[in-house]
Amino acid sequence: MAELDQQQLHREMTAWRRDLHAHPEFGFEEKRTAAFVAEKLRAFGLEVAEGIGGTGVVGTLTRGSGDRAIALRADMDALRIAEQGTRAWRSQTPGTMHACGHDGHTAMLLGAAKLLAEEGGFDGAVRFIFQPAEEWGRGALAMIEDGLLERFPFEEIFGLHNMPGLPIGRFETRRGPVMSAEDNFEIVLKGLGGHAARPHAARETLVAACALVVNLQTIVSRRLSPVDIGVVSVTELITDGTRNALPGLARILGDCRSFRPEVSAAIEKEMRRIAEGTAQAYNVAAEVTYTREFVPLINDAALVDEALAAARTVLADDAVGIAAEPMTASEDFARFLTEVPGCFVFLGNGNSAPLHNPAYDFNDEGLLHGARFHAAVVRRRLAAG
Ligand SMILES: [Zn+2]
Ligand SMILES: [Zn+2]
Repeated sequence: MAELDQQQLHREMTAWRRDLHAHPEFGFEEKRTAAFVAEKLRAFGLEVAEGIGGTGVVGTLTRGSGDRAIALRADMDALRIAEQGTRAWRSQTPGTMHACGHDGHTAMLLGAAKLLAEEGGFDGAVRFIFQPAEEWGRGALAMIEDGLLERFPFEEIFGLHNMPGLPIGRFETRRGPVMSAEDNFEIVLKGLGGHAARPHAARETLVAACALVVNLQTIVSRRLSPVDIGVVSVTELITDGTRNALPGLARILGDCRSFRPEVSAAIEKEMRRIAEGTAQAYNVAAEVTYTREFVPLINDAALVDEALAAARTVLADDAVGIAAEPMTASEDFARFLTEVPGCFVFLGNGNSAPLHNPAYDFNDEGLLHGARFHAAVVRRRLAAG
């Protein structure tokens, strides 16, 4: 098949990326984005299914007679952040922006679809998965529960995320744990509010809440093994008190990170114990709600080696490497890895503002690297005779 003009493809991907950036949509509301993706995939000649897990899209490209199938995944959702800046392609939707670069991920995967549709060079089926609601940690599960793996089976899956601070063209991944689980918690302390001048007549909750915030610090420092990674962050403390009235109610909210289910379970167990004990000491009651939002992202060691080898065919050899440490941020891609083995990788976004920052923008210079990496993985894993 004819070789695609890659500079032309880069210009096209840049136009798609900027169009998507100007029209950001929140998780499970990606209607325009999904239609945009589906229309492009059909134009490239793929078989397309829409409305998978809400607004998800799956494109299938088949070549040769091989019966193997692999999946490539991009995320489509934006964040409720008001964009700063005067770029021509800035968000046209007040209060919503692509601050995580999912516009870039979508454009890169579309670019890979076009490249592979035109050039081939593989034997089997490629599933192009465009998932909704990554930021919520709900979109992957919605697609899985909608029969993704039964309707569009695949044996392994690859995904990527741009990374501010890494140079353009730099590629990193690691074996085993890459990104953490995220759990959320809310502890409600209930006592009896009263006059600020008569604390003995009340069972106020603020001193208890302050003690509890401090006591929760011992989960990581004194209950977890020093070799386990865990984070317990109290992020909010809200009471119903006012200047001259002691609160009868206090709410403590926060966020926990870990890489192993045992650690997440230990954090919850200790939190319940400490909340109950502290509440009892201060003569108030505690109610703990603990929810699991994201599972940890664990890369398959053999497929990490495959991804590194694929990356070296399209990027400078010294730009491809192993990331030294796992990250305590979370990623919904992890949910797919509970079903099939796979590998998640990072591509440099240069010196952009950080992810989730109002001044962030995906760097279009990286688009071709992402598209070529995706295509290289397909050609390596579904090698033609
Ligand atoms: Zn994000
Ligand atoms: Zn993201």
